[in-house]
Amino acid sequence: MTTAIIPTLHLARVYEKLIAFYGEPINEPDYDPLGGLVATILSQHTSDINSGRAYQQLIERFPTWEAVRDAPTHTVAEAVKSGGLANIKAVRIQDVLHTLTEQQQEQGNTQPLAEYFSHELTNRTTEEGLSYLRELPGVGPKTAACVLMFHLDRPAFPIDTHVLRTARRLGLIGPKVNADQAHTLFAKVTLPEWVYPLHVNLIRHGRRICHAQKPECDTCPLYSECAFVGSVNAQETAIPMM
Ligand code: SF4
Repeated sequence: MTTAIIPTLHLARVYEKLIAFYGEPINEPDYDPLGGLVATILSQHTSDINSGRAYQQLIERFPTWEAVRDAPTHTVAEAVKSGGLANIKAVRIQDVLHTLTEQQQEQGNTQPLAEYFSHELTNRTTEEGLSYLRELPGVGPKTAACVLMFHLDRPAFPIDTHVLRTARRLGLIGPKVNADQAHTLFAKVTLPEWVYPLHVNLIRHGRRICHAQKPECDTCPLYSECAFVGSVNAQETAIPMM
């Protein structure tokens, strides 16, 4: 049985104000979750530009994910070096590819790895997909949600540093809620069609106005909805833990 998602009034006001100020971003999924998973691993601890370059160099050097899997690890690291932490990321990528290959072999499946993985995820609900992804080596809740949301247009809410900071300050979640807990809380109150725009707009807000250091509260479009400046009380607005 699925539980109806009912956004809190505060979340609804924040959502509307973000849309009014930053616009409504539209997701353009590529329906390539394996490429998305590799790209997300490459994006850890680096800029979008550097990780995008690393991904491009990886797919130019190796024609298939099977070739990446079977290559000497140092050659994969060499291909992704512009994304930083290349040795660690190369091992992570190959671990994931080997794990998927083992699963596939156990099932007697002979599809290309990318098709197999896509099929596995498409046949699962969003919740099941998140659990499945999190069982892969090195895949945490943020990476799992990124793959589902960006690449398959599923309502899974990635919580990155900007989302966590702005959500805490606004009083959408309590001040001590961690990223893991925030994933669960947002899933309870965010309408599926809000997930992508809310995620993107909270990141925009965190980057442009609600900086980690010196947030620009004087010019903030969310001033009237913010627990940090005392306009709302987080004890009343935060999504309850239970
Ligand atoms: S008022 Fe300040 S702390 Fe609150 S959301 Fe805006 S910039 Fe962030």
